Amino acid sequence: MRLSVAPDRNRCPPNIRVCAKSSRGARLEYDLELDRVRGQVESLGARRVLLQLPDGLKGLRWCVVDELEGCGVEVIVDGGHAWGVCDLALERARLLGADALIHYGHLDVKRPLKLGGVSVVMAPARYRWESPEAALERLADALAQFRVIALSSSVQHSDDLLLVARFLRERGHTVYIGRSPLPHFRVGQVVGCDVAAASSVSAHVDAHVCVSGGIFHAVGVAIATGKPTIALDPYRGVVERERVEGFVRRLLARKLRDLSEAAEARAFAVIVSAKPGQRRLDLALRAVSELRRAGRRAELVVLDEVTRDELLNLSGVDALVNTACPRLGLDDLELFEGLTVVNIGELKYIISDRLEEYDLRSALAWRMNPGFVSELASGGALRRPAGARR
Ligand code: SF4
Repeated sequence: MRLSVAPDRNRCPPNIRVCAKSSRGARLEYDLELDRVRGQVESLGARRVLLQLPDGLKGLRWCVVDELEGCGVEVIVDGGHAWGVCDLALERARLLGADALIHYGHLDVKRPLKLGGVSVVMAPARYRWESPEAALERLADALAQFRVIALSSSVQHSDDLLLVARFLRERGHTVYIGRSPLPHFRVGQVVGCDVAAASSVSAHVDAHVCVSGGIFHAVGVAIATGKPTIALDPYRGVVERERVEGFVRRLLARKLRDLSEAAEARAFAVIVSAKPGQRRLDLALRAVSELRRAGRRAELVVLDEVTRDELLNLSGVDALVNTACPRLGLDDLELFEGLTVVNIGELKYIISDRLEEYDLRSALAWRMNPGFVSELASGGALRRPAGARR
């Protein structure tokens, strides 16, 4: 679940440039893999599909709509946010009687999956980086004091990792690229809540380079690894280290303030997400019982989109515990001005009242809904465990 924000704010993935409506055959900034997507839709025999794109890619919807309607497929465009793979519009696809959901921008899956009873086609929308030379030279300058480098990227740029790795090796660096254990994640791919591709190799490297728009993903890498982290932004051709590290410093100060306030709070609302990948009812229920055991009042509140207005409606609450997208409690804090929000991984400091032990990494200590991840891994062909009862 991500906060409803202005289009240029961080999201997962962030800061993707909009491409205007394009006629068929025109060269786009993104590879929409229309042949593959159309082939999968046809293989499913789908007559009606729901099309879901992240906010920054919605301008490309016409290309997909034209392609599919040209084959006699009815396309309904999902106008809501699509913050991550956690945010598949499965429920809306069911409500609309869609034969398939097409989801762009977060995962590269080579075959249709069956998730929550819905056939899902997923494509990454790879960015075509036409002229990387100047940005790579800036990167070489920024890395002058480091020898061993780890590379990671958002899915739009995962193809560019080999290009960057080759360049850095030619300049004498040793390069590592890790991989997340999450299903269908590409080598080096990170998302806002999972930077295992970077942290799994961090012990071997001097610094990290994260290839992505803006600093959203690089901030996650910097928090999780504690190592120098450079954001390489192919859209703007810029290389940023100070902005990443400055963001993390300010975040730490804000977090300590919020946690101090939450330690004094008497009444808590524990937010559980309705989104399939973010739904951590197990964590939320545990948080409620831990808070009550600690003598606090606690209630469980379900939300789909977490907005400031919805949170302000929860009158009588001193602090909120977020069990949804952990980046809500990191990147969107200024939108929560006047509200005290802590992530589920930070609750232990409030209950134990040991703020001096605070570690910013605990704000990211969260995993996607394990049931959703299992379904992603199996493609929906979940088998009943031996001995399980109906
Ligand atoms: S839960 Fe993870 S994948 Fe989903 S929007 Fe948040 S950071 Fe992105």
